[in-house]
Amino acid sequence: MKIDPEKCTGFEACIPYCTVGAIHLEKEKGISVIDPDECVECGVCYRANVCPTDAIERVELKFPRSLRGAFSDPLTVHKDTGIPGRGTEEMKTNEVTGRIRRGHAGVAMELGRPGVGTRFRDVDILAQAVAKVGVTFEPKNPVTFLMMDKETGKLREDILNEKVLSAIIEVDVEMNKLETLLRVIKETAPKLDTVFSLDLICKVGPQGEIETLPIAQKAGFTPRPNTKNNLGFGRPLAKEE
Ligand code: SF4
Repeated sequence: MKIDPEKCTGFEACIPYCTVGAIHLEKEKGISVIDPDECVECGVCYRANVCPTDAIERVELKFPRSLRGAFSDPLTVHKDTGIPGRGTEEMKTNEVTGRIRRGHAGVAMELGRPGVGTRFRDVDILAQAVAKVGVTFEPKNPVTFLMMDKETGKLREDILNEKVLSAIIEVDVEMNKLETLLRVIKETAPKLDTVFSLDLICKVGPQGEIETLPIAQKAGFTPRPNTKNNLGFGRPLAKEE
């Protein structure tokens, strides 16, 4: 995104709309500018339609910058997964997709939030750390598509400086490795220059037991159990093999 300096009058109406604080007023010139390094190409300032002189312009994004729009603009569809937004249906849809089987846990690490964002450099650090535990990266996740090596979790070098609003690493892990994985995530968190939340997914037992909860508590987390009902998305529920 860019602001045409010829059209901008420094009205500042766009500034509060920026999701990461990338727009500022250049007082000496009396115009607003977008910091291209901080802008995540979410399109909010443009769609807000608050500029009285239509000075905000979309620019064509080439790879790797195009990743910013793909991960940050909810109206952009990921070409790899065909899903808009962060590009994954996430493991929260497990009752329909059946991705996580009994005896396994799904772990999603959601890096970045509006106001903060995340760079792929941080996604790379966390992905490589969790890979060492022996996890399977979710194949239909757009972050997995950016890996040079799905065994090590290493992301492509040319994307590491790209900043996005949010990106989700999703893994499938055997339940007996979950505690180790959670401890690794805890140890890695201080190395990341962003915030992230953690989702734990498992099949609920016949008596309503949730196997991941005591493991998360043992690893030093305070989980908040909740549920999301997807009503099948028009598809039948997944069956255990
Ligand atoms: S596209 Fe998004 S991140 Fe970039 S300047 Fe506009 S609101 Fe801010």
